[in-house]
Amino acid sequence: MQTLSLLQIAPTLAEFFKVHLVSQARPVEQILDFAYSHNPQVVTLVVIDSLDFLFYFDFADELERIHDLVERDGVLFECETVSSHTTPAIASILTGLRPESHGILTGEDVGMSNVNSILEILEDEGQKAAAAIETKGAKPLWGRISYVFAVDDREDIFEYDELITTHTVSVLKKQDLRLMFSHLRAIDRFAHRGMDLSVAAKVTNENMRAIANAVGERKGMLLICGDHETHLKDRKAKQASQGKAPATVPLIVCCP
Ligand SMILES: [Zn+2]
Repeated sequence: MQTLSLLQIAPTLAEFFKVHLVSQARPVEQILDFAYSHNPQVVTLVVIDSLDFLFYFDFADELERIHDLVERDGVLFECETVSSHTTPAIASILTGLRPESHGILTGEDVGMSNVNSILEILEDEGQKAAAAIETKGAKPLWGRISYVFAVDDREDIFEYDELITTHTVSVLKKQDLRLMFSHLRAIDRFAHRGMDLSVAAKVTNENMRAIANAVGERKGMLLICGDHETHLKDRKAKQASQGKAPATVPLIVCCP
């Protein structure tokens, strides 16, 4: 398996959609070959917060639908991360730039950057983009891309992810849509709070099942990735004592 960087996702999408994006990272030929051979009408990118490579395999039973997507007709890559925090990591996924280049490091920086994401670049080239994300992240996209679904942060993270999933499924019915971006957060919330991760993994798996079905109905391509290592207190202590390198995250490319 080839090791990639999360920075390569945006340049790969830019190459596929034939739009110009400035990045030091190179498009992934294998993903482009996969895309050209399937000729998808729409691409959906879902970031599963805190889904890292170890977690993906440790919770393979709970994440069975996601593993199934790889096994049926998909490709799994291992990606180096660029940050251990959500905001800069997602900004890097969407821009192809390192955090020091895009400058979006905290919630306060969102909307202050003059760097365009692949969503805005696509829209500027006349191809419709959509996002279903937390309200603070959604604000700078209002008026910039065709479809923006803002979901307020809340205590009930399952309700939050359900709303993200519902919006994602519904916008995929738009025939003119070319790129959809969504962000699911239950695993990250459960990891931070030391709650039962198998429960969060199962709920995430069901949300991905619904999204994959909707992508399949549109003959679309689905990209699923994590944003950073799973923030587990136990594991971090273990890794520090063993001197292990920071975790990688999975990137799944499939046409469900
Ligand atoms: Zn995160």
